[in-house]
Amino acid sequence: MDSRVVSKAQLPELLDKLARDYILVAPVHEEETVTLFKKVSGANEVQLDYTNSDVSPKGCLFPQTEKTISYTYTGDTLDMKEAAEPPKTALFGVRPCDIKSILALDPVFEGKFLDSYYLDKRKNTVIIGLSCSKVLSTCFCTAFNSGPCDGSGADLMFTELGDKYYVEVNTDKGSSLVEAYSQFFGKQDTEQLAKAKEEQAKKLEGQFTRKVDLEGVKQVLDENFELPYWDKVFKKCLGCGICTFVCPTCHCFDIFDYVTGEVSGDRFRCWDSCMFPDFTLMAGGHNPRPSKKERVRNRFMHKLKYHLDRYNLEGCVGCGRCISKCPVNIDITQIIKDLKEVGQNA
Ligand code: SF4
Ligand code: SF4
Repeated sequence: MDSRVVSKAQLPELLDKLARDYILVAPVHEEETVTLFKKVSGANEVQLDYTNSDVSPKGCLFPQTEKTISYTYTGDTLDMKEAAEPPKTALFGVRPCDIKSILALDPVFEGKFLDSYYLDKRKNTVIIGLSCSKVLSTCFCTAFNSGPCDGSGADLMFTELGDKYYVEVNTDKGSSLVEAYSQFFGKQDTEQLAKAKEEQAKKLEGQFTRKVDLEGVKQVLDENFELPYWDKVFKKCLGCGICTFVCPTCHCFDIFDYVTGEVSGDRFRCWDSCMFPDFTLMAGGHNPRPSKKERVRNRFMHKLKYHLDRYNLEGCVGCGRCISKCPVNIDITQIIKDLKEVGQNA
């Protein structure tokens, strides 16, 4: 693996250049209270000092609302216009948990049915990660063999160290970007900076207050679909779906047709949530998840079992968003702890 160094003083110029050559998507503050990822026109809009964005960067590859086709009937034929090839995009400032969540989404969209909407964006996007500099009380990425400076999955990984960024070049895509903007990527002191990064990672890992141990949890879920435990947990849930909308690994969507004229329309896909009653409602009226109990169980089974069964990858990355945003404090780390106890008492 190659590594480089970018001086902090030069980062704004690099971001400005990226914004000219690519669609640059980066963390921004909106209305002073919300941090999210969106297209920026230059460095002055980018928020570098953020902990964990309220909304994850997932929407860069899988937008909350996306037009997939437009159609018009002309006589006996149907003219369909597919979405255009997505532009070259640089997704900058992605935290390690969110990078890992993209790795969890990849097999969903490139499985048996290739999802060109996601895959074309993925192919045209270079992921530039940014190590965390603070650990929140809700963070638990270390439970999933990750950590605040883990760059696996990023094309380039930036770590702030004093007046510089240590940059790990992890992929060919990352390497091409470094080559194209070589005036910003120095080679000096990288060995020393690699050591400093390791020390910083260790220091930050010592700051996690939420200790989460997943040992035995999947086995409990493998062996018990019905557990009296679920009869308790769901009672607090409001079914608002916030947990799924903020989750960087949730990927369910619905498809809508919007009529734009007598013989024309647009087709959209929009995020959906397994916490909504009509998510599994069938045309004949049957609903296999008729109450909140089944829906809450499904969410946790998906995060802690089904994703692993299907893709051999965890369906949770420990970002803590569902913990901090749930209005009734349903906490996945408490659920993990409780399920462990169920296993130990079985
Ligand atoms: S955020 Fe909380 S209350 Fe809302 S659906 Fe999720 S678990 Fe239920
Ligand atoms: S389940 Fe919660 S903690 Fe896990 S990735 Fe989703 S939002 Fe983050």
